[in-house]
Amino acid sequence: METREMIKVENLNKSFGDLHVLKDINLTVFENDVVCLVGASGSGKSTLLRCLNFLEKKDHGKIVINGKEVRRETHDINEVRQHVGMVFQHFNLFPHMTVLENIIEAPVHVKKISKEEASKDALELLRKVGLKDKADVFPNKLSGGQKQRVAIARALAMKPDIMLFDEPTSALDPELVGEVLQTMKELADDGMTMVIVTHEMGFAREVADKMVYLDEGMIVERAHPDEFFSNPKEERTKEFLSTTG
Ligand code: ADP
Ligand code: MG
Repeated sequence: METREMIKVENLNKSFGDLHVLKDINLTVFENDVVCLVGASGSGKSTLLRCLNFLEKKDHGKIVINGKEVRRETHDINEVRQHVGMVFQHFNLFPHMTVLENIIEAPVHVKKISKEEASKDALELLRKVGLKDKADVFPNKLSGGQKQRVAIARALAMKPDIMLFDEPTSALDPELVGEVLQTMKELADDGMTMVIVTHEMGFAREVADKMVYLDEGMIVERAHPDEFFSNPKEERTKEFLSTTG
């Protein structure tokens, strides 16, 4: 079977004013791949994810999502965004809506799916993330880990081809990290194509198909996790890994 390229980035560059944040990034993510993106704070991880989801405008380079080159001038970014779900550190749930309403909001208003069908899908997603009984509660009644699982369900409700995660467990109390990682692991096992920025090295080692290490806006090393963690090639990767415990 041919392996499909879900994300292809060529020579991506991005600056904020004089600050050159992403430098000639080349990255291919295949269908069903889980890529974990690691690096020090400020190395450009979030900017890279945001460029992939067109929340940030690239300066130069090529971004191909599921075979389609996305150019701001010629493509409907909102259309593309429907195929790329994103989960952030802060869950950004709508506080005045129930869990179910949060999840069906985009399918109903963006995809124009009927409320009935969207609700049926939402309940199935809630079952998947272990929160079936929380459909009618408001976000302020949930723990951080539950909120993040709702945020994952909400992203999945658009039936994306790709899921991007930007430090999804960094804002959580330590005892709540595991349940969110477990949900992500199940998603990976289901074959979702995922790019995950994380500091959870144990999780990355277990779940990633590929590790990518970013330093000062450059991809310094990429490798299978076994290789990456036990036998890093680059001096900077060794230093980084020695700081992450
Ligand atoms: P990371 O996620 O790896 O911590 P970021 O991608 O958030 O790194 O940031 C990379 C660099 O870009 C940092 O120096 C950050 O201050 C800068 N940066 C990020 N977003 C902006 C922005 N909107 N305007 C100006 N500078 C930014
Ligand atoms: Mg970041």
